[in-house]
Amino acid sequence: MLHIRQLTKGSWHHILVARAPTKAPAVNAEPADPMPDAATAQEPLHDAVIVGGGIGGLAAAVALAARGIVAPVLEARGRAGGRILSFEAGGQAFDLGPSWIWPGQPAVARLLAEAGLAVFPQYAEGALVHQQADGQTARYPGFAPMGNALRIAGGPGALVAALARKLAPGQLRLHHAVTAVTRSGDTLRLSLTGPEGESEVTARRVALAVPPRLAAALSFTPALPAETARFLDAIPTWMAGHAKFVAVYAEPFWRQQGLSGDVISRRGPLAEIHDISPPQGGPYALFGFLGLDAAGRAALGQDGVIAAARRQLVEVFGAPADTPLALHLKDWSDDPFTAAPADAAPPAERPAAHPAYGMPDLPLGPWSGRLAFIATETDRENGGLIEGAIARAQTFAEAFAPARP
Ligand SMILES: Cc1cc2nc3c(=O)[nH]c(=O)nc-3n(C[C@H](O)[C@H](O)[C@H](O)COP(=O)(O)OP(=O)(O)OC[C@H]3O[C@@H](n4cnc5c(N)ncnc54)[C@H](O)[C@@H]3O)c2cc1C
Repeated sequence: MLHIRQLTKGSWHHILVARAPTKAPAVNAEPADPMPDAATAQEPLHDAVIVGGGIGGLAAAVALAARGIVAPVLEARGRAGGRILSFEAGGQAFDLGPSWIWPGQPAVARLLAEAGLAVFPQYAEGALVHQQADGQTARYPGFAPMGNALRIAGGPGALVAALARKLAPGQLRLHHAVTAVTRSGDTLRLSLTGPEGESEVTARRVALAVPPRLAAALSFTPALPAETARFLDAIPTWMAGHAKFVAVYAEPFWRQQGLSGDVISRRGPLAEIHDISPPQGGPYALFGFLGLDAAGRAALGQDGVIAAARRQLVEVFGAPADTPLALHLKDWSDDPFTAAPADAAPPAERPAAHPAYGMPDLPLGPWSGRLAFIATETDRENGGLIEGAIARAQTFAEAFAPARP
């Protein structure tokens, strides 16, 4: 069951919406269904273990499996997908994390082709609206800031679901939060907490597909070299300080007004707004990134932020915006399996553009050849993006078990 807000004009109700039947994948929907857990008392020593069941961790597991290595994926949350998250309304998935990929991203393109998933262009017909600080709006026909972006049919969650389906039964272990990694000789011991208490998994090598800041916060025995721990801790997690608001409607009234749904606003609380409707048919949706920082959002509270965002949509698009089928807010800054406290820093300290991501050749000391940091932020070319997460997964698998000529 999915807990969303169903709104009628002037009143707010929480409703429970049946998840099935649906066109959308549920593997990364929130809250998640527990999946079977294969961890047993006779846990073997694994060649490799992957920490984090986001798209990077799943892609790494699939790439290793193609090389004959079945690596357990230990995932703290009760769902796969990490920052890829959606909710369902009217049988469609609406993204609360990423929505876009771009041309020229070969790693994600390859996985989409293997999964048989289609892409379609971001809706960009009609005028962009600019909203000034005093609320005045102006139309800019033909200006489409996300005009070259592509969307995945079913959302990025469809790719997460496709990867998860490729894993062996029980390989993905939900509700398994890694707290510590200890090296004893050639064996790495991972300490886990979950609903059934504490447990341990052992492996020869560990890939950390978790945001670098969260990786640095794990307890390592012996300790990571200080320089490396500091470097990892200083890497901002992409979008972790942000919040995304989605409003679902029966009709695409903005399109009927000759608008693309793109809005740039100096008034807020949504700083930018875009159309995230499905490729055909409804329900239709607009989403916005909050311009308020995490402290500002916390001060307003979830209901206050949702009410303010709804008022802004009415200011920009008129009365039809006041009759949503569903509204949903996801604040990533208070999600401990994405954001560290430093990610909720004020806007000036948060990355507005992609920082220079990547993982230089840092000393790993006693962990050399044992640990790999592979979350998207460690990718030099596409760090922060889905593409970066998948590219790092592939590089890791290739280095772990090079393909035979
Ligand atoms: C609002 C938003 C919008 C975005 N928009 C875009 C976009 O349009 N296009 C784009 O390409 N990218 C976008 N991104 C970024 C994109 O989501 C990420 O690049 C990608 O999902 C990262 O994948 P990952 O597997 O590296 O990390 P994550 O998705 O963060 O996965 C890490 C996993 O590790 C798990 N974990 C954490 N700690 C532990 C632990 N101790 N033990 C076990 N498991 C743990 C987490 O639960 C999570 O599942 C956006 C992100 C957000 C939040």
